[in-house]
Amino acid sequence: APVIVWFRDDLRLADNPALSHAVASGRPVLCLFVHDPGHAFARALGGAAQWWLDGALRALRADLVRVGAVLHVARGDAATLVPQLVAQAGAAEIVWNRRYDPVGRETDTAIKAVVKEAGVAAHSFAAGVLHEPWTVRTRTGDAFRVYTAWWRAARAMGEPLPPLPAPAQVPAAPPPAAWAEQCVGIDALGLCPVAPDWAGGLRAAWQPGEARARERLHGFVHDGLAGYGDARDRPDLPATSRLSPDLRFGHVSPRQVWHEAVAAVRGGDGAGEQDLGKFLSELGWRDFAVSLLYAQPELVSGNFRTEFDAMPWRDDTDDLRAWQQGRTGYPIVDAGMRQLWHTGWMHNRVRMIVASFLTKHLLMDWRVGEAWFRDTLVDADIASNVINWQWVAGCGVDAAPYFRVFNPVLQAQKFDPDGAYVRKWVPELAPLPTSCIHTPWTCDPAIRRRVAYPSPIVDLQGGRARALAAWKGLSGA
Ligand code: FAD
Repeated sequence: APVIVWFRDDLRLADNPALSHAVASGRPVLCLFVHDPGHAFARALGGAAQWWLDGALRALRADLVRVGAVLHVARGDAATLVPQLVAQAGAAEIVWNRRYDPVGRETDTAIKAVVKEAGVAAHSFAAGVLHEPWTVRTRTGDAFRVYTAWWRAARAMGEPLPPLPAPAQVPAAPPPAAWAEQCVGIDALGLCPVAPDWAGGLRAAWQPGEARARERLHGFVHDGLAGYGDARDRPDLPATSRLSPDLRFGHVSPRQVWHEAVAAVRGGDGAGEQDLGKFLSELGWRDFAVSLLYAQPELVSGNFRTEFDAMPWRDDTDDLRAWQQGRTGYPIVDAGMRQLWHTGWMHNRVRMIVASFLTKHLLMDWRVGEAWFRDTLVDADIASNVINWQWVAGCGVDAAPYFRVFNPVLQAQKFDPDGAYVRKWVPELAPLPTSCIHTPWTCDPAIRRRVAYPSPIVDLQGGRARALAAWKGLSGA
């Protein structure tokens, strides 16, 4: 009887404990992916993430063929479909790597119970985080609410386990006859946009899959990690790893990232302990977000600081459109939003600037911004997205206080000092001198007239004052 490996957010062969377990069992293996649009009622995959998934599945299929296996793809409600597929295959066992988001957990628990009831073994493994949420706890056994304390406790647990090698061969089981009706080609999932095809920029920027992710990781730890600690806040420099979509879809595991970065630094590859420490702690933020959502699933859509439930958020379609389309009149905000639209990714510092601008200067609900990011980011991840939005908006765990309002002009002058990032993503501003690249309204009118670029949609001082007044009106603020 075969063993089924159910792939989900772990689209890789190396350091894949579920796959390694299946191979070690000596049984023939059926590799399965289920696209579950029904997941949508809670959290649909956004457009950009769907585009990524399409490429990721094609890459995984090809990688599996190379080791002798076949990727079977099905579409439907996983909670009913997976037990059905298990029964039709006459499988002895089903294995997967654990996920931690509220809907994923609920689905997996239900499926495990059903298949076990049918006498089939079901095993799950840790693969997507450095530390599973329930393992890092305060002395009294509670979940941490402060990142620095969580990180200290996580570090004290020692190094994460070393990654597993990719299996050299995966003995494929013949596909069960009944699966032919259930399984579809990747094309049939309809994950890529057709008309209009808005994914040209994504195709130019990324190639999903394990091989490219490993290259990106290797390139970063050997050539990019030196200087990361100082340069990571500079959107004009290629200073960060850009591994977020690879981590989101599991082309690399955080353990692989951790150990490869540590080995490069210990091997004397130019980066120092400070660069390494900073990079690992960013990786830690990813786990921390997972653990916060695990402890409080309601944070998916509810404010951690509930006094924000009474916040008089504005509902202004014109302002929202201007923000989404990169037409706010603030060059750094517009550059970020256009980078996001064109490439499905935005630099972290700029994510903070645009999120602060939306929730403070425009006084709009963080959930509106989170939904836009969810639809447009290739790395869109429930935990990281929700926790970071709440953090910027001031209503989250261990958040920056609401009254700390980022000034987009000062931020831009500090982190994009020559205006190179703005010139790249807002090319109509490219002719402006650096002295006014972040404040086009101060430019010589003769130059300004030649540039078709909107005036600011909100006055920075006025917007800030409006936000603070709204916040002061909350009880408990
Ligand atoms: P690097 O600097 O190279 O960091 C390495 C890895 O650490 C990243 O790939 C990522 O997995 C993790 N990481 C770094 N910073 C954070 C952080 N603040 N929170 C959680 N993990 C982090 N990241 C997502 O992966 N998905 C999201 O949906 C997402 N939404 C965000 C929304 C907002 C409003 C903000 C401010 C940040 C968001 N982030 C999100 C976090 C962060 O911006 C990205 O992870 C980072 O920019 C990815 O670039 P990188 O891989 O080059 O990062």
